[in-house]
Amino acid sequence: MNHLISIEDLDRAAIERILDRAESFAEIAGREIKKVPALRGRTVVNLFYESSTRTSSSFELAAKRLSADVVSVRSTGSSVEKGESLRDTVQTLSAYEPAAIVIRSPHAGAARLLAGWTDASVVNAGDGKHEHPTQALLDVFTLRRRLGRLDGASIWIVGDVLHSRVARSNILAFQRMGAKVTVCGPPTLLPRGIEALGCAATPTLERLGEADVVYVLRMQRERMQEAFIPSLREYAERYQIGVGRLRTGQLLMHPGPVNRGVELSADAIDSPVSLIGEQVRAGVAVRMAVLYELLVGAAAPAVAA
Ligand code: ASP
Repeated sequence: MNHLISIEDLDRAAIERILDRAESFAEIAGREIKKVPALRGRTVVNLFYESSTRTSSSFELAAKRLSADVVSVRSTGSSVEKGESLRDTVQTLSAYEPAAIVIRSPHAGAARLLAGWTDASVVNAGDGKHEHPTQALLDVFTLRRRLGRLDGASIWIVGDVLHSRVARSNILAFQRMGAKVTVCGPPTLLPRGIEALGCAATPTLERLGEADVVYVLRMQRERMQEAFIPSLREYAERYQIGVGRLRTGQLLMHPGPVNRGVELSADAIDSPVSLIGEQVRAGVAVRMAVLYELLVGAAAPAVAA
């Protein structure tokens, strides 16, 4: 495997291999010296053309913990702001002979395009409303740790499915791991034909009690050019997940950043059933495992000391 652009690039065995490796990297995070020499002498470029907190910081930390040299470029403050095209930027950065380029872009398909212009391995860190495969992997990692396995689990993905790259990657990844997925949200925020991905779709929370896991999505207001809902207040009334809407035993997830009081109530975010903190913690180990898989290879031994 040269690139990670989409969850479709991974079969179940590849996902499990990455997660097993992430477990060994998570163990390294508990050590005093949190580094392994796996990528010593190699360069990882992080190219972020859209805002990010969790994904950019965890990719940077992941590459550093693997001992790579890391260059992080954000569109603000770089020549991208001066109008340099993605292709020219990549050509410039190619002078450093990067082993991997991690890219986040507001444009669906940007990561795939980039893979055609460089010899480096490309990791998609979110391309428009298309995909965010490493988010899906860290979510599967978090759930696998909690549930043991995802086979047969019912996972509801609630909210702005239409604009969410996380929804697309997670529907694919959860199903690949044997879970049943239902998407739920206002009809205007459910893509037409979404069932073709293998999931069920419903516009109401009536049967939310069936879910083992409730995965809530952020309202992607930056991607909305028109009004998809009457008002945020009305949306919150009908779809906001609070502790009162969850039954005992259900687990709650959200990829962050959360719009407190919109898709999630404050009590839910901080409740004991929330896995949000664990999702963030999983990010570094899972992204280390992805870089390792691409740059060192699937055949390498499970623990890199
Ligand atoms: N952080 C995730 C993403 O970049 C989710 C979100 O922004 O709502 O897609």
